[in-house]
Amino acid sequence: MRRPLVAANWKMHKNLKEAVAYTRQFAPLVANLSEVDVVLAPPFLALPALVDTLKREGHTRIQVAAQHSHAERHGAFTGEVSLGMLRASGVKLVLVGHSERRRLFHETDTGINEKTRAAIAEGIIPIVCVGETLEERESNKTFEVLKRQIRLGLAGLSPDQVAAIIVAYEPVWAIGTGHVATPKQANTVHTRLRQQLSAQFSLEAAQACRIIYGGSVKPSNAAELMTEPDIDGALVGGASLEPASFAEIVLASQQKTIEDV
Ligand code: PEP
Repeated sequence: MRRPLVAANWKMHKNLKEAVAYTRQFAPLVANLSEVDVVLAPPFLALPALVDTLKREGHTRIQVAAQHSHAERHGAFTGEVSLGMLRASGVKLVLVGHSERRRLFHETDTGINEKTRAAIAEGIIPIVCVGETLEERESNKTFEVLKRQIRLGLAGLSPDQVAAIIVAYEPVWAIGTGHVATPKQANTVHTRLRQQLSAQFSLEAAQACRIIYGGSVKPSNAAELMTEPDIDGALVGGASLEPASFAEIVLASQQKTIEDV
């Protein structure tokens, strides 16, 4: 059985003090939820402080992720942060190819592949984000787009590496819009993504790889999304900014494991 994973993407919200205060409030709320992997992805400046706070207060099951990184190990890349620097600060995961990075910062499938491979080489788990725009969905190009993003974004990975990464399906039209994909819509895509992983890598890799859903996940819709067999968790933006709301989403994912037993 795949272990659910729920990740908070705070985007460009919360300064250092706010991030630490959130973490102190949030961590005890999920301390008893042992069947779910919980991840916080704050802005860069708060990463080491969150790692320290969680360690000091004994919340070792909550992992910290970066929202972005550079693929090169070091060099003249003003403003960038390397995966080695992230690892040295205790960061365990990194978002790669979020639609905001693709759209606003012109990230390409090839660049996303470089970062994905660099993250794995550095021992950091990539959360590789894929998703179609509304225009692509309406012109029946959803699977064509997703197939390309997976084929190019994960090119060169071994089946074992694919088994250990996270794929996040985030329809662009559902991110920050309040328009959540229906559980059936999302599950259909997750199943197709798993078929693509099976064809490109192996059945075992496809069955082991966790595919999480992102796009307007809230406490009110999380439980229903989690009942779908191919949805292995959530990547949460807006609703993760408030500790109680994010904790409710984590709780909904834990229900998934209880019902599956
Ligand atoms: C995201 O940014 O990854 C996201 C899913 O945002 P929201 O939950 O706000 O739609």
